[in-house]
Amino acid sequence: MISIEHKDFLETSIENFIIPSEKIAHVQTTNTIEHALLLLTKSGYSAIPVLDTDYHLKGLISSQMITDSILGLEKIEFGRLDEKKVEDVMDKDIPHLKMTDQFQYALNLLVDHPFLCVMSREGYFQGLMTRRVMLKQLQRHIHMQVQRS
Ligand code: AMP
Repeated sequence: MISIEHKDFLETSIENFIIPSEKIAHVQTTNTIEHALLLLTKSGYSAIPVLDTDYHLKGLISSQMITDSILGLEKIEFGRLDEKKVEDVMDKDIPHLKMTDQFQYALNLLVDHPFLCVMSREGYFQGLMTRRVMLKQLQRHIHMQVQRS
C-alpha cells in the first residue's frame, strides 16, 4: 500500500519546479540547421525546443538529428547545413506536460526522456521539466523519509 507521504509527493504539482521559458535556449522553425547546431554545440545541451515566431512549441531538435540529416553515403555533407531548415529535421512528435500535471505523470515520462517541454492549452511554450530536477526532489523526499523512520 502506498503511504500518505509518497502520495503527497506523487501528487505535487510540477508548476514550481519547471525552468521558465525565458531561461531556455531554443531555435525557430525557419532557422537553418547550421544555426541550431551552433547553439547546441555552444550550449552543450543534447536537444533544445523548437518554437514558431509566436512562441508556440513545434518540436525538438538534437545534434544527432542534424548530423543524421546530412549523412551522405560515405561522408557527412557539411555543405548542406545552411540549406536545410530546422522544421525539415526536428522531431514533431514529442510528449509534453501541462503546468497542472503532477509529479507522478512527469516521473513516468522522465524515465524515457531527459527533459519534457511544458505547453499551455493554446500551445504556447512555458518551460522545461528536467530529469535532474525531478531526481533532486525524489532524493530530497527519500532523505526526509529515512530521517523520519
Ligand atoms: P540537465 O538536467 O540540466 O542535464 O538538462 C537535461 C537536458 O535538458 C539538456 O541536455 C537539454 O537538452 C535540456 N535543457 C536543460 N536546461 C536547458 C536550457 N536552459 N535550455 C535548453 N535546454 C535545456
